[in-house]
Amino acid sequence: MPELPEVEVIAQGLQRLIGQSIIQQVEVLWPRSVACPEVPAFTHGLAGRHVMDVRRRGKFILFALDDGRCLLAHLRMTGGFCVFPRTTPPHAYVRVIFHLADGRDLWYVDVRKFGRLYLVDSPDEILHELGVEPLSAEFTAERLADILRRRKRAVKPLLLDQRLIAGVGNIYADEALFRAGIHPLRRAADLTMEEVRGLHAAIREVLQEAIDHRGTTLRNYRDADGETGENQFRLNVYRRQGEPCRRCGTPIERIVVGQRGTHFCPHCQPARP
Ligand SMILES: [Zn+2]
Repeated sequence: MPELPEVEVIAQGLQRLIGQSIIQQVEVLWPRSVACPEVPAFTHGLAGRHVMDVRRRGKFILFALDDGRCLLAHLRMTGGFCVFPRTTPPHAYVRVIFHLADGRDLWYVDVRKFGRLYLVDSPDEILHELGVEPLSAEFTAERLADILRRRKRAVKPLLLDQRLIAGVGNIYADEALFRAGIHPLRRAADLTMEEVRGLHAAIREVLQEAIDHRGTTLRNYRDADGETGENQFRLNVYRRQGEPCRRCGTPIERIVVGQRGTHFCPHCQPARP
């Protein structure tokens, strides 16, 4: 599933490729890809609209439109966007086609069909529950301490909770906890302020470095130019179970935490500090 860095890279690519484009007409090939409104209102509402700006919030892509409304996309497992000349015939996984006035088509592609598009008057209709952006100035070590303090749950599921911190998913939660030397099952409230500071820095570093390396491609992820990312070669623990820790050589372990595969080094991330 694309997380913050992958969605950020896609949104930046779309801003470059189709920012300022005009949507002439929309063809919905798989109606359930459109979460709201009904398909006829969706296509009618987008026809003739200028795309003013494309950006990211959490794991959502936001297309600001010239009438003040907003097209939102959540890619879930396998969603993605790509841009082609109109002469390119769409393949079987193209779910929605946005015909642009300049003769290009923007495809919404989704192999497993879990992704959703929303056309709304205000992004807040969909995004109002999202937590703090981890790369924003508001996400300070004190803010993270506020999020973790008094919570009896393990630290890892809290990092995945989009209502607390927006955009962090399984890959970057595991990588940030490794970098900070914190076991994923440590109780959030038990972390020292020094550990919280280390985790705060680690979250920002792993996300920013992944953006700099154009995201992590495990299977389907491609950026808006159709390119794979390179961050998968830089992962320290995620899906490296049985392989030696790059820091100490101990085999990386995999456990299940809150139904999510969780990867850590038992030496670098002790269960008890
Ligand atoms: Zn280690």
